[in-house]
Amino acid sequence: MQERRGTPLHTKILIGLILGAVLGLLAQSTLGTGNETLKWWVDNPLNFVGMLFLRMIFMIVVPLLVSALILGVADIGDARKVGRVGVRSLVMTLLLSGIAVMIAVTAVNLIRPGEGLAPEQRERLVASYSKKEDAEKKVAQSKEAKSAWDTILEFVPQNPVQEAARALEGGLIPLMVFALIFGLALSAVAPEKALPIKEFMEGLFAVSQKVIEFAMKLAPIGVFALVFKTTALLGLDALLALGRYAALVIVCLALHQFVTYSVVIKLIAKMNPLDFFRRIRTVMLTAFATSSSNATLPEALRSAREDLGLPRDISSFVLTVGATANQNGTALFEGVTVLFLAQFFGIPLTVADQFTVVFLSILAGVGTAGVPGGSWPMIAILLAKVGVPPTAIGLVLGIDRILDMSRTVLNVTGDITIAACVSKMEERSGLRDAEGA
Ligand code: ASP
Repeated sequence: MQERRGTPLHTKILIGLILGAVLGLLAQSTLGTGNETLKWWVDNPLNFVGMLFLRMIFMIVVPLLVSALILGVADIGDARKVGRVGVRSLVMTLLLSGIAVMIAVTAVNLIRPGEGLAPEQRERLVASYSKKEDAEKKVAQSKEAKSAWDTILEFVPQNPVQEAARALEGGLIPLMVFALIFGLALSAVAPEKALPIKEFMEGLFAVSQKVIEFAMKLAPIGVFALVFKTTALLGLDALLALGRYAALVIVCLALHQFVTYSVVIKLIAKMNPLDFFRRIRTVMLTAFATSSSNATLPEALRSAREDLGLPRDISSFVLTVGATANQNGTALFEGVTVLFLAQFFGIPLTVADQFTVVFLSILAGVGTAGVPGGSWPMIAILLAKVGVPPTAIGLVLGIDRILDMSRTVLNVTGDITIAACVSKMEERSGLRDAEGA
């Protein structure tokens, strides 16, 4: 998001991040963690500013997710009726998101970037981000054994409004299931009945995005406060742990971008992967600069037609729905981040918990808005789900901008990859149809 005049927002956020980190470290090393004055500043004005920024994001979680998911599913549902294109895009979206999240889960389990923090540092961290008893209660709850029948039944809400009210305390899956069913039903009723609801959802979605935009205006000072708080409390060790996390996210994104997509482009779209990436390089750069799939959509549509020669109808459909509904980079990032924070806070996740993360991260790829910082509401909810205090996102938010830029490149490349593959499949089935006739 470029400001009309002066310094662009992302530069301001970067400045906030660097200042927060340097001053926080300086304060910690000169005054010491136990210093009363430092503690007062961290607990009062800085905590206030940081939390104000986070609350602006949290407050819009429910309307944003519900409207984005209902619209995404309703669009895909429409597409099903239009025929093969919708089904093929949907299958490829699930497949590519699935691979992305599997890369994330495997990497975090192998590298374990969140470990290696001394127990007392972790204690301090948990205490500073949540009431400890709450965290312990959540961990205990997450370990309570339930039968498979009950677990599945709990995914289906009895009262979606009640689930919405406790979305940040684990009401998310039932709410998403409700939105999925609602979206499917919306695409199945008569168009004149569906129209007012679709228009309402579109309005709600647009307004929710605006609120995120407002929140992002607070980001430079919010990030400063959050990073200062983190570094002043923890010192250099935490920063080193975060460095490992950021490097891991970027390596995983690069793997999916250049290995998974190359294989799919070669085998399904029958194109030379290097040539493909060269042709869409302006799209990738736009995604990197804007951190927003939605803002990159016009350039992606142009490039698909002019640089890749894809048919207009297929590319328009796949790219437009994909800008919101297919976000591999976001799915991968959410997987890494949630598992990393769980490790960081010393919360053990069972195989079942990890499957929940995989499942929800794939859904998040469908339900996340294609705007800067669009993933954060979903990450907060996923964290609550696995027993990590959602405000822990303050820990990683400071370095998010560069990760956001990188994952958006993947989100947009994924859309064009699917458009190229589906166009090729349609070409082939067109040939078969013609031969059969
Ligand atoms: N910025 C991302 C996009 O627009 C969404 C996110 O993961 O935050 O694609």
